[in-house]
Amino acid sequence: MEFRRRALSKPHRSLTPAGAFPAKSGSSTRVQASDALPLPIRHTNKLFSVLFMVSMYYLMCRWREKIRTGAPLHTLTLSDIPAIVGFIASLVYLISFFGIAYVQSFVSSHYDEDDFLLSSDQPAPCPLTCSKKSPLAAESLFGDDEEIVSAVVAGKIPSYVLEAKLGDCRRAAGIRREAISRLTGRGMEGLPLDGFDYSSILGQCCEMPVGYVQLPVGIAGPLLLNGKEYFVPMATTEGCLVASTNRGCKAIALSDGAVCVVLKDGMTRAPVVRFATAKRAAELKFFLEDPRNFETLEIVFNRSSRFAKLQGIKCSLAGKNLYMRFSCLTGDAMGMNMVSKGVQNVLDWLQNDFPDMDVISISGNFCSDKKPAAVNWIEGRGKSVVCEAIIKEETVRKVLKTTVPALVELNTLKNLAGSAVAGALGGFNAHASNIVTAIYIATGQDPAQNVESSHCITMMEAVNDNNDLHISVTMPSIEVGTVGGGTQLAAQSACLNLLGVKGANSDSPGANSRLLATIVAGSVLAGELSLMSALAAGQLVKSHMKYNRSSKDISKALPPDS
Ligand code: ADP
Repeated sequence: MEFRRRALSKPHRSLTPAGAFPAKSGSSTRVQASDALPLPIRHTNKLFSVLFMVSMYYLMCRWREKIRTGAPLHTLTLSDIPAIVGFIASLVYLISFFGIAYVQSFVSSHYDEDDFLLSSDQPAPCPLTCSKKSPLAAESLFGDDEEIVSAVVAGKIPSYVLEAKLGDCRRAAGIRREAISRLTGRGMEGLPLDGFDYSSILGQCCEMPVGYVQLPVGIAGPLLLNGKEYFVPMATTEGCLVASTNRGCKAIALSDGAVCVVLKDGMTRAPVVRFATAKRAAELKFFLEDPRNFETLEIVFNRSSRFAKLQGIKCSLAGKNLYMRFSCLTGDAMGMNMVSKGVQNVLDWLQNDFPDMDVISISGNFCSDKKPAAVNWIEGRGKSVVCEAIIKEETVRKVLKTTVPALVELNTLKNLAGSAVAGALGGFNAHASNIVTAIYIATGQDPAQNVESSHCITMMEAVNDNNDLHISVTMPSIEVGTVGGGTQLAAQSACLNLLGVKGANSDSPGANSRLLATIVAGSVLAGELSLMSALAAGQLVKSHMKYNRSSKDISKALPPDS
């Protein structure tokens, strides 16, 4: 093979190569004029400094010589011209890069349009440019605000600079909203504007906000899971969902609770790289999968974060294209950012031994994020979890209003055979996605990841002399975190707090996110139990009519488990 093994010293955070994500948490990257240079800035700085010194030295020598010989100062020889050009060019360069930076340091509190943060690897709840105050009400667009709205409507001020220009996120949202209303001729009266901390989403959760959508949050529970009780927050507008999950929780609690085990924990990212030949792609595959190289790769990868721990790399080829599925522990973070930074570190490092490697994309879809894919179903992504409970015959009859044989038969025909007929991929369940999505929205997870997070096979079997029901849900790709992303927002963080999994677990990083994954699976178990029972008892349409189409007087509606 054409690569050589390189010895690496201990991980050193500052070693992250130029062009990679910033290694240090909390750093952010601003666009610099120097980004446009063809060479790294430290090289151009040296080059122009040397040019400046040499040309100045030469011109001073020439000046002294002219004075000594009495020659007129303005007469130039051929060799004087490049020296003067070099001197002026280096002077302009040095003033641009050092002089302007010096001046900027005095006026840096005033942001320009171009001053936008391009990337941020750390929550940036309220940058200097955005105060938490909201001095103006939505309606009070007068004076300055009226002028700004007109400028935005006329296209003179881009809508996306409002936060940075005004330093007030609430005011920026109000002005943007008014501008949009004028541009479209349509009001947004029903969309609330006040009552939300816009600075908390800046640079992290949502760009160009004009308001927020309200979603009701219901509580199902207590869910008795691994000996502890949880009240599960669910954000949904689907009638019956919370009530039905609640009924499942009740059945589980009456049957000594559910037991859940985390089988695997690892977030994945799979870049795609291209070589001139399939042979070279295969060489890199063998290199990455060689256990002797793992330690080195691990050191390079883990520089991305103190929480990142590389677990393995699985490679797959498509001709001369190589897909490398990196898997790593990410502590309590869901981990997409963390794993991506680690992958970038490894790609930069590999470029030394594989200079012919053409990096096509940091994500090559073998990851696979937010798309149904067999790789997640088989290999797992995020937390792979199994959850089970034995529901007593009496509870099946009294609470779920059905029988054990009816449930077992329905599960076989619907969740197993029916899904096989449909050609399902990870969809061997009744409605795991309903519960997953409602909890994801309530707790600030990425709801788009419900695609693979809802992969679930529900199994049912008669046990204890065919009296009781053994039910299990096996979910290989629950992607959740309790830090980062939307989890730090006030409402979502309150829901995490209710579950006792808010933020980072300082004693055992990753324990909070793993516990959250078990709660998701336990709630799915409850949801499966209840919906399957409703179907087996032929109650589904009846209860939906009661909750979705009933009069608004909910007190007249009977709970589904009555
Ligand atoms: P993600 O990787 O899920 O997209 P972030 O990029 O926001 O999320 O990463 C989480 C951030 O939180 C990282 O910068 C990490 O250093 C920090 N952090 C603090 N405590 C923890 C923890 N216990 N587990 C994981 N990350 C943590």
